[in-house]
Amino acid sequence: MSEDTALVLLSHVAYRSGWLADAAGITAAAHGVGALVLWDLCHSVGSVPVSLDAWEVDLAVGCTYKYLNGGPGSPAFAYVRSSLQDTLVQPIWGWMGAQDPFEMGETYAPARGIRRFLSGTPSIVAMQPVIDMVALLDEVGMPAVRAKSVLLTEFAVEAARELLPGVLIASPLEPERRGSHITLAHPRFVDVYTRLWDRDVIPDFRRPDNLRVGLSPLSTSFTELARGLVAVAEELRVVGGAD
Ligand SMILES: *Cc1c(COP(=O)(O)O)cnc(C)c1O
Repeated sequence: MSEDTALVLLSHVAYRSGWLADAAGITAAAHGVGALVLWDLCHSVGSVPVSLDAWEVDLAVGCTYKYLNGGPGSPAFAYVRSSLQDTLVQPIWGWMGAQDPFEMGETYAPARGIRRFLSGTPSIVAMQPVIDMVALLDEVGMPAVRAKSVLLTEFAVEAARELLPGVLIASPLEPERRGSHITLAHPRFVDVYTRLWDRDVIPDFRRPDNLRVGLSPLSTSFTELARGLVAVAEELRVVGGAD
C-alpha cells in the first residue's frame, strides 16, 4: 500500500487456507495511506464475528450460500459505509435500485442510500433460508458460533495429526488466525475426493492437492467431522497414499 493505492480488496477469510485477516488493522493501515477498503466476506459471514461499523470499513460484499445457508442461487449482499452511499456509483443498474422502480424512463435516477446498490430481481424463495439463518445467528450470538467453530477446527487439526500422518495441515495452526474451514494437503487427494463424495463425505478439492473441510458451526457435529476424517484416512489407504 502506498499513496497510489485507491482500493484494497481482500478476503476476510482466505478461501484456500482459511487464513483470517486482521480486518481492523488492515483497514486502519489502508486508511492511513488514503485508500478505501473492500472486504470479501464470503467465507466469514456467519462463521466469524464481523464488525464493519466498528472497524470503519468502507465496502464489503459477500454471498449468502455458504455459512448463511441460502443454497445455490441465493442473493449476494453489499455493505457501503453510509457516508459513501450517495456518492458511490453502482455501475450495474437495476430497476430495484432506481429512485422510482416503475418509471422505466429515458434516464436512470438511482435511489438514495443503500437501495441504489440493488440490482436484478432478488429470489424471494432463496432469501427465506437466509432470513431464518440470520435469525438463528442472532438468537445464539456470534461469540457462541465462533466458539463452536474454533472447537471444530481444533478437533479437525488434532484428528488429522492422529489419523493422517502424511498429510500437511495447510491452514493456520493458531485458532485465532483461521476461519471455519481446514485445508489439508496431500499429493494423492486428487484420487481421493470423488471416492469420498461416493461415500457422502463432501469436502471440496482445490488443485493441485488441497482438500477443504468446511465446518458450518451450528450444523456440523464433532461425530460427523470424525467420520469424515476417518473416511479420508481409509480412502487414502485404498489409493496407496497412506504413509
Ligand atoms: C464463494 C465466493 C464468492 C462468491 O461468488 P459468487 O459469484 O457470488 O458465487 C466470492 N469470493 C470468494 C472468495 C468466494 O469464495
